[in-house]
Amino acid sequence: DQHFNYVFFDQEMESKILRKRKIKEVLEKIAAGEENYIYLQFQPILDLKANHICSFEALSRIKSNELGIIPPLEFIPIAEETKLIVPIGKRIIFLALSFLNKLKTQGYDSVKISINVSLIQLLTNDFNATLFALLEDMGVDPTNLIIEITESVFSDNFCEINKKLKELKASGIEIAVDDFGTGYSSLARERELNINCLKIDKYFIDELVPLNHNGTITGDIISMAHKLEHYVVAEGVEHEVQKEYLIEHGCDKMQGYLISRPLDEEAALDLLEGVNDV
Ligand code: C2E
Ligand code: CA
Ligand code: CA
Ligand code: CA
Repeated sequence: DQHFNYVFFDQEMESKILRKRKIKEVLEKIAAGEENYIYLQFQPILDLKANHICSFEALSRIKSNELGIIPPLEFIPIAEETKLIVPIGKRIIFLALSFLNKLKTQGYDSVKISINVSLIQLLTNDFNATLFALLEDMGVDPTNLIIEITESVFSDNFCEINKKLKELKASGIEIAVDDFGTGYSSLARERELNINCLKIDKYFIDELVPLNHNGTITGDIISMAHKLEHYVVAEGVEHEVQKEYLIEHGCDKMQGYLISRPLDEEAALDLLEGVNDV
């Protein structure tokens, strides 16, 4: 009955609000450096031409005793809303650069790490300066770092953002546009943006299964990116047929469960040993 539904709805709302509040508390502790709830997993990206792992994408997770593993799709929006993404983002960058140094120690000095950076992070005044200082302090070569930004950069702040990207790119850091094709990017602006790479969203890769490629524009996106002198990473590749299409259409790199799920540091190093050392 109606009344029962309302009560049920209220309870569900209440538990959602409660969970959000608890996540917020966890984020505050991480931001204050009080707890090490946050860690990274690394998903390999395969260079389709060289047939080796050229980089890993760093993906954050939170592990709390009370809430278990909290996925980024749940905590990143809360971190953005509360602006806690700024201090937490710094922590994430620190963890990623630490792994880069570990890779170097193991002899993998050309393997890169990409980090997801939120628009809010990028828009803080000292983002570039803080990053350059951290690279310097930790002795990391900027050319080993890739920054992934989403199409939200094509917003009101385009000029300001593009200036920052130009400075980052000039230092040797690579810039990738994440989830390409799903948001509201415009081709004209794509051309002006100081970037190196387009990551084609999984949506376009999903279209490549089953073998019915007639309607897909994935190949056209790859050609267009190449005309703009960007290299292309395909995201969310799960099937061999998708890989075949991508190779056939000149895609540069790919990422997805077909290669590997995101891995802990040790497993990532093991994988490198297996794939890159042969
Ligand atoms: P994203 O940047 O598009 O990352 C790719 C997501 O797709 C990851 O989910 C990854 O685990 C998943 N994935 C990779 N290959 C496959 C595949 O073959 N099939 C399927 N079904 N999924 C695949 P994850 O780790 O849950 O991250 C979700 C999103 O959260 C990321 O999407 C990114 O937007 C955001 N995120 C993660 N870590 C960070 C971070 O440190 N900072 C910020 N700002 N955002 C982050
Ligand atoms: Ca990404
Ligand atoms: Ca993506
Ligand atoms: Ca995504």
